[in-house]
Amino acid sequence: MEKILVSRCLLGHKVRYDGGASGPFDPLAAWQAEGRVVAICPEVAGGLPTPRPPAEIPGGQGIDVWEGRAQVLTAEGEDFTSAFLDGARQALALVQRHHIRIAILKANSPSCGNLLTHDGTFSGVKVSGEGVTAALLKRHGVQVFSELELPQAAIALTQL
Ligand code: SF4
Repeated sequence: MEKILVSRCLLGHKVRYDGGASGPFDPLAAWQAEGRVVAICPEVAGGLPTPRPPAEIPGGQGIDVWEGRAQVLTAEGEDFTSAFLDGARQALALVQRHHIRIAILKANSPSCGNLLTHDGTFSGVKVSGEGVTAALLKRHGVQVFSELELPQAAIALTQL
């Protein structure tokens, strides 16, 4: 059975930076019941506490963090880069262990966002780009969807 990597916050786990969750969602619950879901919160896996200060990537995107051109910083300038990288590597390890080809990651997150992230000014502005984990998984061949694209993910699953 094809497994799917899923952001823990989308499963209703209270791991968001603000101590909340972003789910659950019925399709994800159904995939959980089938035993397909492998869950991770990259930021918590990387060692960050919950709650934690929000972080963004000033002047870049997830790929820029991997290539050393940008850092993951809080509004106060605390550097979360190594924790974000470590959590993303753990997500990739799960992908490789379970031969995962589809991920459902939380939209707009500096770790999990697959199409948009915040612009690094902590002003709520979103820009095109990927978070640190999404960038790594995409470059290892994973199809990354968000909770806003669950129908598309379901179709992709049937096409594997
Ligand atoms: S968006 Fe990703 S990093 Fe943020 S709480 Fe959800 S699973 Fe964790």
